[in-house]
Amino acid sequence: MGKEFLIAGNWKMYKTPDESRQFIEALAGTFPETAGLTVAVFPPFTSLAVVRCLDRKIRIGAQNMFPEDAGAYTGEVSPLMLRGLVDFVLVGHSERRQVFHESDDDVNRKLLAALRHGFLPILCVGETLPEREAGQTLSKVEGQLRLGLAGVAGDAWANVTVAYEPIWAIGTGRNATPAQAQEVHRFIGGWLAERAGAGAAIQVLYGGSVKPENSLELLSQEDISGVLVGGASLKVESFSAIIHSGLKLLGA
Ligand code: PEP
Repeated sequence: MGKEFLIAGNWKMYKTPDESRQFIEALAGTFPETAGLTVAVFPPFTSLAVVRCLDRKIRIGAQNMFPEDAGAYTGEVSPLMLRGLVDFVLVGHSERRQVFHESDDDVNRKLLAALRHGFLPILCVGETLPEREAGQTLSKVEGQLRLGLAGVAGDAWANVTVAYEPIWAIGTGRNATPAQAQEVHRFIGGWLAERAGAGAAIQVLYGGSVKPENSLELLSQEDISGVLVGGASLKVESFSAIIHSGLKLLGA
């Protein structure tokens, strides 16, 4: 089976609804719908209703989600509110873990709620620089996978995606080398195959300072099946160039 790529753009807390609409309209014309390629953007909540349905080949995701259906949770957004607006939900992004103090247990509750409601969760995992330097990368990632994916069973595995995002590479301009990324992706792929079965073919994305200059080499690595892009997903030119790296490798 050939590779399938997911190219995802996390817009973080950038873009008004108008800017989001203009972005999608401009991006849509820069690449063709192609078998084996999924393109998704993760706008702020306030843009979701505006961008949905603007272009069918661009899928939409939420950057976060509260795990309860409804209740006295001021400022939160529930799975029921996201129905019909998004396909994907990011869970456990390092900014949620670090800035908003989300624990692995919080992340797991969100992931299970996303699956229960028919969304496709993308679980973000990754180590800090001190953890890498102390040789703890794989044990850190293993713990986040084990706790974040606790309770996932059976067919639900097929709806899970994992993003390996070394924290020291996010927003720093310093990406993991393709070999560093490949090593962790190989580990994650093996861990997932043991639990989900090799046939589940769970996609594992790399994230951390992905840009047009390094996307082709990163996507060429055997166990990297897509990228999660922050800064470079905010400009049509750079995000489109990354999409075209995927297209090139698909021979499209
Ligand atoms: C991210 O926000 O997930 C990310 C990887 O950001 P950047 O590409 O800017 O490093």
